[in-house]
Amino acid sequence: MTISNALTNEMMTRPTVATINLDHLSHNLSVIKNHVKTSKIMAIVKANAYGHGLVPVARHLVELGIGRLGVAFLEEGITLRQNGIQLPILVLGGILNSQIEHFLDFDLELTISSLEKLKQVEEVAKAKRKTAVMHLKIDTGMERLGVHSYSSGSFIEAAVGAEHCLLEGVYSHLACSDNPESPMTLEQLERFEEALFHFERLGVPVPLRHLANSGGILHFPQTHLDLVRPGIILYGVYPDPASRQILDLKPVLSLHSKVVYFKTVEAHRPIGYGATWKSDHMIRVVTVPVGYGDGYCRALSNCGEVLIRGRRYPIVGRVCMDQFMVNLEAGTAYNGDEVVLIGTQNQEQIRIEEIAEKAGTIPYEILTGYNMRIPRVYLKNNTLLEN
Ligand SMILES: *Cc1c(COP(=O)(O)O)cnc(C)c1O
Repeated sequence: MTISNALTNEMMTRPTVATINLDHLSHNLSVIKNHVKTSKIMAIVKANAYGHGLVPVARHLVELGIGRLGVAFLEEGITLRQNGIQLPILVLGGILNSQIEHFLDFDLELTISSLEKLKQVEEVAKAKRKTAVMHLKIDTGMERLGVHSYSSGSFIEAAVGAEHCLLEGVYSHLACSDNPESPMTLEQLERFEEALFHFERLGVPVPLRHLANSGGILHFPQTHLDLVRPGIILYGVYPDPASRQILDLKPVLSLHSKVVYFKTVEAHRPIGYGATWKSDHMIRVVTVPVGYGDGYCRALSNCGEVLIRGRRYPIVGRVCMDQFMVNLEAGTAYNGDEVVLIGTQNQEQIRIEEIAEKAGTIPYEILTGYNMRIPRVYLKNNTLLEN
C-alpha cells in the first residue's frame, strides 16, 4: 500500500481562515488618494503586506494603478520581482554590502543612509555597468537609519555627483505622527526642509521628497510633499483612535473559525492552563480551534471576545497554542457554528484596534503576527478568488 504525501483539499481545510477583502483595499486606496490630492503614493507592503499576503496584495495594487511599492527587506523585493511585479520598488531597510549586487540584478531601489554606503553602491554599480536607483535617507529625529539632517550637506553633495547612481528620492521617517498633539512631527518636517535646502544651494533639482507614513497622511497635511508612504491605513486599520474621524477606512482582513466543541461546565470548575478562571454557577462553554500558534495573542486570555450567532462572548481561561474556550453563559451554539474573531456578524463588530488594545499592543503587531498556519482567501468583486 502506498501512502500519498499530498494532502487533499478537504484535509487542508481547517475551519480557520483569514479573508482578505480586496474591494476594501480598493476603497481605502481611493480614500487615501482623495485625501492627499496631488501627492504620489508608494504603497507599503512589507511584512507580507501587513499579514495580508505580499503577492496577491501587490498584484491588486498594480491593477488599481499604484505607481510604486515599498518593502522593508531585499528578499521581499525579490519575491515581488519573481512574481512578475514590474513597478518601481523601494527597499526601506538598511543594506549590507553583500546585498548591493542583488539590488541591481533585480532592479530594486536602494535606501542610502550614509556616505560610506553611497560609495559602496557607486563601486558595485560601476563594476556591473549598471545604474543604481537610490533614495537618500535623512534622519530628522527617529535615530534609526539615515544621515542626520544637520550634517547632510556633504552627503547630498556626494549623491548629486555620483555617476553610477540615479537620485530618485530623498526621504525621512516620522517618529510620532500617530499623535496629532506631538510637536515632534513639525520639528522633523523643519529639519527635513533644512536638509532639502542643500539641493537649492547646489543648484540641482530636488528628487522626490517623502516623509509621511499613515499618521502623517492623516494628521499632518504639511508632510505630504511629493509622495506619501501609507502602510496600515491601506489595510483599513487606524494607527490611533483620533484618526477615525478623518478617513472612512474599511478593514481588509477578517478572521473566522468554527465551534469544534460544546459542553456545560459545573460551578467552581476552572478552565484551561493554570486554572486561571472559574464561574460560581453552571455555564455553557465552547472550544474554538485557534491559538497563539497561529499568532492569536495569548495576551487575550481572560479578556478577548468573539462573535457567535451575532453576540459577543468572552474568552475564558488562557489562550492555548491551538485553541481557546469561550463562555456562552446560557447562550446557544452548535458544533460548526461560525466564530468571528475579527470582523462583523449581525450588528456586532470586532476590530483589530480593539484586539490590540486588549492585548496591550499596537494594531501593527497584531496584523503581522498572524502566521502562515492561517490560510488566506481573497475576495474580489465580492467573489472568492481561486488560488
Ligand atoms: C513601515 C513604514 C511606513 C508605513 O508606516 P504606516 O504607519 O504603516 O503607514 C512608511 N515608511 C517607512 C520608512 C516605514 O518603515
